[in-house]
Amino acid sequence: MGKGSSRTSMESNRDEAHGQETSRDELTAWLAAETNSSAAEVAEGLEAGERRRAFVVDELADAGFTGPELLELVVRLTGLPRRAAKALVAERAQRIASAEPVEVPERDVRLVGNEIRFRSLNEQLAALDETARVAGMLTLVCECSDRSCWKPVEIEVAEYDWLRQDPLRFVVLPGHEAPAIEDVAERHPRFVVIRKHPETHAEAALADPRRPPT
Ligand SMILES: [Zn+2]
Repeated sequence: MGKGSSRTSMESNRDEAHGQETSRDELTAWLAAETNSSAAEVAEGLEAGERRRAFVVDELADAGFTGPELLELVVRLTGLPRRAAKALVAERAQRIASAEPVEVPERDVRLVGNEIRFRSLNEQLAALDETARVAGMLTLVCECSDRSCWKPVEIEVAEYDWLRQDPLRFVVLPGHEAPAIEDVAERHPRFVVIRKHPETHAEAALADPRRPPT
């Protein structure tokens, strides 16, 4: 099968309501041939990418984003084309609607804290985004204390790894720092690394995703 015919049949499958599975098998086979790797390797890579993207959509939806704003963030954070992002948002919305609602007490949500939530999201984005790692640049979300922020922050991989060595350090956009609860550790044109005051942020260290298990 030539490249051209495979692409054309994928296009038509995408428009069918139940064509998703076929489309994925074809995509896997095509990618395997193109990259000279086994279908299993390709499938594994695609699955990791899909899990990451689904996670991003679920987190954003959970934070209360909907409509065009949600779509915009999904496009920005996953790098998916607009049409694919729209399909993914629709698929996740359906899954969330049919699942049992998970009750999280408001108090726990506040205790965990915005910065810690964003940090764990960023850790997933950074760990799973192989392409970005190779390019040396990550697109993450602002880890400021404003729950509705979600603005993208671009940071070098090396800089990001450095800041994660201290569980009290977070990355925020310039102007998003809160002097009452944190100090500026480093200032860059695109981002600011802040350090939380240890006395008010003991929970930030306890929730450190890179903390070795005890
Ligand atoms: Zn922010």
